[in-house]
Amino acid sequence: MSAEIIDGRAFSEDVKKRVASQVASLKEHHGLQPGLAVVLVGEDPASQVYVRNKNRSTVEAGMRSEEIRLSENTSEEEVLSVVERLNNDPGIHGILVQLPLPPQVNEMAVLDAIDPAKDVDGFHVINTGRQAVGLPAMVPCTPLGCIMMLKDRLGDLSGLNAVVIGRSNIVGKPMASLLLAESCTVTIAHSRTKDLPAVCRNADILVAAVGRPQMVKGDWVKPGAAIIDVGINRVPKEDGKTRLVGDVDFDEAKEIAGYITPVPGGVGPMTIACLLANTITAACRSNGIDEASLPDVG
Ligand code: NAD
Repeated sequence: MSAEIIDGRAFSEDVKKRVASQVASLKEHHGLQPGLAVVLVGEDPASQVYVRNKNRSTVEAGMRSEEIRLSENTSEEEVLSVVERLNNDPGIHGILVQLPLPPQVNEMAVLDAIDPAKDVDGFHVINTGRQAVGLPAMVPCTPLGCIMMLKDRLGDLSGLNAVVIGRSNIVGKPMASLLLAESCTVTIAHSRTKDLPAVCRNADILVAAVGRPQMVKGDWVKPGAAIIDVGINRVPKEDGKTRLVGDVDFDEAKEIAGYITPVPGGVGPMTIACLLANTITAACRSNGIDEASLPDVG
């Protein structure tokens, strides 16, 4: 058996088209242009690429995009004052501070300073708490993209055994929380988990968010399982260049699984699409607009 590949690129294009038509509708019927601000502190090369892509996608969707680049040695007070300005800007509906931040800037203090209504990354503790108790919340983009793809392929997830490997605040924990909200039976595995392969073999849904290249082997996979590979790892090739691989040994796992996301081209593209979707949600909520009244197709 060979798994069905979940094409995150195609899926993300659909989400982006829907967002673009929603932006057009907001402009036409409400005179509202959703705005997203991205704050980048320092010169981290991977972060620069992410920020450039986010900016391009925001503009392509017809939204206002503001990109604020600060130098590596910017103080915490300066970052907080930028966040404060954006909190008070009525034309900005979403604020994203690109992580990681340099050591002199306290990450939690900055995330905590973002207005929860504009927290399109969903990392503020207010949003984490609201999501955990089932209230409307901004949901972190990567887990949101994963759950959208799972629901699209599997339909009703209730009663399925879901195993999430990784317990970070930005992927593992919110992913587990979203799966629980879909009535899955959820296990969170991590670096101290005993006999991880046996835990994984019980999973109808297996989400790997670890950061270890090709750690999940074919014989860890339950036949027919849906595998979501969040990991992004750069590994050397024989020619001295590098290539991206996930946390799952794709070639082995695809022979056993029912569905699998590739790396690249799986979860990654969905993250930016969900950021745009969250910005629409934030713009609607802050202006008292029912998001359900917006077009649902691209
Ligand atoms: P993290 O380093 O914060 O967390 C990794 C987790 O893996 C930890 O909870 C740890 O307990 C667990 N872990 C480490 N070694 C393990 C082991 N041997 N067995 C079981 N568990 C182990 O990482 P993160 O920020 O959650 O990111 C995880 C991966 O996802 C990284 O590769 C990252 O680049 C990628 N990522 C991708 C996207 C995307 O858009 N596709 C977004 C965020 C993160």
